[in-house]
Amino acid sequence: MNILEYQAKELLAERGVPVPRGALPLSSYEASSVAAELGAPVVVKAQIHAGGRGKAGGVKLAASPAEAAALYDEFLGKNLVTVQTGPSGARVRRIYIEEALKIEREFYLGFVIDRKEGRVAVLVAKAGGSEVEGNASAASLLRAIVDPALGPTAHALRDLSRALGLEGSARKSFFDLVGRLYTTFIELDCSLLEVNPLALLSDGSLAIADCKMAFDDSALPRHPELLKLRDIDELPSEEYEASKHGLSYVRLEGGSIGCMVNGAGLAMATLDAISGRGGSSANFLDLGGGADADAARRAFRIILDDSRVDTALVNILGGIVSCDEVAAGIEAAIAESQASMVAAGRKMRIVARLAGNHADEGRSRLMKIALGPGFSLKFASNMEEAASFAVAASEKSERL
Ligand code: GDP
Ligand code: MN
Repeated sequence: MNILEYQAKELLAERGVPVPRGALPLSSYEASSVAAELGAPVVVKAQIHAGGRGKAGGVKLAASPAEAAALYDEFLGKNLVTVQTGPSGARVRRIYIEEALKIEREFYLGFVIDRKEGRVAVLVAKAGGSEVEGNASAASLLRAIVDPALGPTAHALRDLSRALGLEGSARKSFFDLVGRLYTTFIELDCSLLEVNPLALLSDGSLAIADCKMAFDDSALPRHPELLKLRDIDELPSEEYEASKHGLSYVRLEGGSIGCMVNGAGLAMATLDAISGRGGSSANFLDLGGGADADAARRAFRIILDDSRVDTALVNILGGIVSCDEVAAGIEAAIAESQASMVAAGRKMRIVARLAGNHADEGRSRLMKIALGPGFSLKFASNMEEAASFAVAASEKSERL
């Protein structure tokens, strides 16, 4: 889960990390009073889940409260295309206003998980800011792996600060900052904490000019307070719909086969079986361990509602999950969606592989569904066969 810059800065401030003063106005009128309170000049910053805003015109200096208000109006609702958003861009729904900093130099400071080492890595680069966004060539980055028992050592901190050429008080505040950010990273189960730029100001102090934070989704149940920060506007609505009901949905690009499976491993195997036969998946929906008919109904609705999907592959290995419950869910989802799908002229082929717990009952329930125009159903006896049928049925497949 990603959060926005202003949310990350709020979290840091709560944890005693100094961040520039700022506020999130909700109107251009408020923007001008925020700017007046902070004291112009201020920086007006579009809040989207991507960097590269500076170069794309999403971070601008306002010399007066009136200018801040004008920038607020300019940014709100704008579709910002940056090197990190992709060509479709991201809509600006929130705007943050901050005191302007007298930046002398810009560094990069990042905390990530090094998967090979299984530890947190601290990265710094002397050339930070907009310069490293697109091309963080590994050569210019200095990396320190942190021993979880020790935290960042004095030795590592010295190396990192030397790489940035920091001296005196800036060096001391760098030590303090890295320590606090590391603690935050660990305590909040971050997957990424990036300060870019870490700004050296003209008075010799360091400031967190920009901050990006992402959390390990698997650890979110430990942090109910973070879940409230989730930006529902930024998630595809199906993903949000799925997560509300304990289903995990992943949207994929380019495909036309929708997959409903139970279990992450089975999901991966199913996707592999499809792509191995020249097909491509539009999504997969993992019902998880103990899904009932209602969860299966919601899941299948999400698949049917995806207009890119022309073939639904149901691959269920019934254990705790009963295939009959899944079939009942499919039946209910079809009943709900049929009219609108027929009206839209959509065709849907369903390929079902049901095995294990109550598989026979599940199959006979599916067979009894009165499939309306545009729907077809085919059973497969194993996953490979199911994938072959789905690829053959889907119009977008290349068919090997
Ligand atoms: P990003 O481009 O999306 O990463 O957005 P940033 O917040 O990093 O802003 C981009 C650039 O704007 C930074 O690299 C800085 O050069 C500049 N910038 C950001 N905040 C300030 C500020 O308070 N004062 C000044 N002078 N420049 C800023
Ligand atoms: Mn930045």
